[in-house]
Amino acid sequence: MLRLINARLGASGEVGRIASITIEDGLVREIRWGESADTTPSDVDLRGCWLFPGLFDLHTHLRDFEESAKETIHTAAGAAAHGGYTSICAMPNTQPPIDTPERLEHLLLKAEKEPIHIYAIGALTQGRAGRRLTEMGLMQAKGAIAFSDDGDGVADAACMYHALQYARQLGSVIIAHEEDRGLSGQAPLAEGEVAYRLGMLGQPEVAETAMLARDLALVAQTGARLHVAHLSTATSVAMIRAAKRAGLPVTAEVTPHHLLLTEDACAGYAALAKVNPPLRTEADRAALWEGLRDGTIDAVATDHAPHTAAEKARGFIDAPFGAVGLETAFPLLFTYGVATGLLPLARLLDALTVAPARCLGLPFPGVQPGAPADLFLYDPKIESEVDPSTFLSRATNTPFAGWRCQGQVIATLCGGRMVYCQKDHAIAEALAQHLGEAGVSTARKAW
Ligand SMILES: [Zn+2]
Repeated sequence: MLRLINARLGASGEVGRIASITIEDGLVREIRWGESADTTPSDVDLRGCWLFPGLFDLHTHLRDFEESAKETIHTAAGAAAHGGYTSICAMPNTQPPIDTPERLEHLLLKAEKEPIHIYAIGALTQGRAGRRLTEMGLMQAKGAIAFSDDGDGVADAACMYHALQYARQLGSVIIAHEEDRGLSGQAPLAEGEVAYRLGMLGQPEVAETAMLARDLALVAQTGARLHVAHLSTATSVAMIRAAKRAGLPVTAEVTPHHLLLTEDACAGYAALAKVNPPLRTEADRAALWEGLRDGTIDAVATDHAPHTAAEKARGFIDAPFGAVGLETAFPLLFTYGVATGLLPLARLLDALTVAPARCLGLPFPGVQPGAPADLFLYDPKIESEVDPSTFLSRATNTPFAGWRCQGQVIATLCGGRMVYCQKDHAIAEALAQHLGEAGVSTARKAW
């Protein structure tokens, strides 16, 4: 048994109250409100730290298989734990893609060895070629929680229509990457001032909104659940808002980089800021915050997209799209969203835990008696800086290096096991020692 006393609890519903939490057999056994003075040998005093539920990322690129130079399931799990995440959802655009029940099973067998929860999303079409649907029913039976051709838009409207019909029958969800390839031209940045200054063609907003409009029409026709990945434009936010008002079963996500950066980050041909969809204008960024605030955008998803340093060094035009995000999402959003007053902490927590699980139809037990002890500790007193050399991810392609953050993840527990411990932090060390002694976990850092 372990008792975490004097923690500032940040579970949804209760944000900021001091509590003591008893953990036994990997579960939260009891929550007691208020300060605790009595320190027994099974207590660890968390005074000054926040205790949050383990975060849930519904959009993670794990790589592995033929791209293990970028990331593996193992290193992605380490990165997740370092960022406070205890649940991540693997996107199927790996090499080879997760487009058969056998490949899905293989992925989940590897994932089971990791100390955090890893869910699998199945590919929507065979070979991700956008023509023939995968065996969605069989993949769902093997554990696919949703289906997506993320990385590419589904160009063929009939294919998307049939996928939505099929998903509706299965009670599953389609995750849409909204990009008309003809309009986007796969340009490395958004159409606009920066592209003009750099003398480049950019991706117009309509590359996203044209396909989004089509998919919303298909949802209205089929009644199937659609989750829209990484919104990037103010118009998309308005379209999702209207669709929700009309009662369509649509949910949406936004990434930390679309909330925190604009196309200006691409000035100087910065390959680290080359993401898809591209970073857009300040007005788009403001609309994304507003959408997140009012719940139009349900969830924050990292779109964690690891690439090697060599790939990102190819230059702006030839470098692949994407940025890593698992290890920076929470400290950045806590600092630049909550501490600046843009977003209440309760809404941020909801968007990183309950809401993403709900988008995929999964329960999120949170912090309550009987729930798994999936938690992370955050010390808001530490002034930290995004330092890619500290990442547990195999990749370091972040556009946020050097950004100052208020606070740091110091420990993460999954099922009562310690899956990340910040060395040289007294409370994290005490917890690590304790979990070893209590027999709940001997893992100081599980990788
Ligand atoms: Zn995508």
